[in-house]
Amino acid sequence: MIRCTIDLSASGRNLGHLYIPYSYNLAGWANLMVPIAVVNNGPGPTTLVMAGNHGDEYPGQVAVMRLLRELRAEQVKGRVILIPTLSMPAAKAATRLSPLDGKNFNRTFPGVAEGTPSEALAHYLTTVLFPLADNVIDIHTGGRGVDFYPCAHMHLVPAGPQRQAMLAATEAWNTDFCFLYADIAGTGLLPVEAESQGKVVITTEMGGSENVTAHVHALTQKGLRNVLVQLGHLTEPMVTRASKGQAPTRWVQALAWENYRFAPESGIYENIAPLGDEVTQGQTVGAIHFLERPDRDPILVTAHSAGILIATRAPSLVAQGDCVAVIAQEVDPRKLP
Ligand SMILES: [Zn+2]
Repeated sequence: MIRCTIDLSASGRNLGHLYIPYSYNLAGWANLMVPIAVVNNGPGPTTLVMAGNHGDEYPGQVAVMRLLRELRAEQVKGRVILIPTLSMPAAKAATRLSPLDGKNFNRTFPGVAEGTPSEALAHYLTTVLFPLADNVIDIHTGGRGVDFYPCAHMHLVPAGPQRQAMLAATEAWNTDFCFLYADIAGTGLLPVEAESQGKVVITTEMGGSENVTAHVHALTQKGLRNVLVQLGHLTEPMVTRASKGQAPTRWVQALAWENYRFAPESGIYENIAPLGDEVTQGQTVGAIHFLERPDRDPILVTAHSAGILIATRAPSLVAQGDCVAVIAQEVDPRKLP
């Protein structure tokens, strides 16, 4: 159902669109147009670089748009396929979910060929683009809801060459922390589909909230470029944290459900422990206040165990059940089974 206007196997640098047909009241024959580019230069790996899986997560979209304009075929070994904005209607509306079909794109995999625009695009990625790729990059932030300490992250896929390659590529982002995460909010994720196809999958949580600092933009852009060096596409020198005089990346993991703290009641959330701080078991990380009952003591949210506060609530207004904090424990990922 989806038409790609460029030949992804052609040499050189080509820019076009994915046309995803849909209908609305003013156009029965409409297409959602998703920009796609390919830079292809001889033998080498294929890497699919994507952002805007969630519309309101912009640092990756900016980084991929920059890369799309900068990359020249003669600079590249192998093939890089770039999609700056997967969820175009959501990105234009500054929303997480697509206003076109109400879908969370990152819950639509493996997709449906004849489904809604989000489902059809997921199916196209699953059946056409992932099989072309050796490596899959999907750049996220915490969206408007969660503020992450900017980090590259990954699932702990089964031990073996895929996991080793993912650890090395994730570290190439040169973030202070790298994060092993669990899926606590459903299935149908893009990275899980790509991992199940054996791909080397590199993902991030580049901050969050609506404020994107200059630091986060620079970290996203430099990290992405360095990952492409690490994957063998670019011949420029690899940048390491040591070469920048920085301490090694600290790996942390939050694989247990209890690592993810949820608001027990609706109210006004106060972050108490700073993002990125070490917290102790039982330490108060936040409090929920009640506008209509200023006399009532706030409900405290505590750390279930010691660790690093890797993510906090972004908006102050909180609803019962929202994730308000993530506490991760330091780990050596190369010693995990
Ligand atoms: Zn996201």
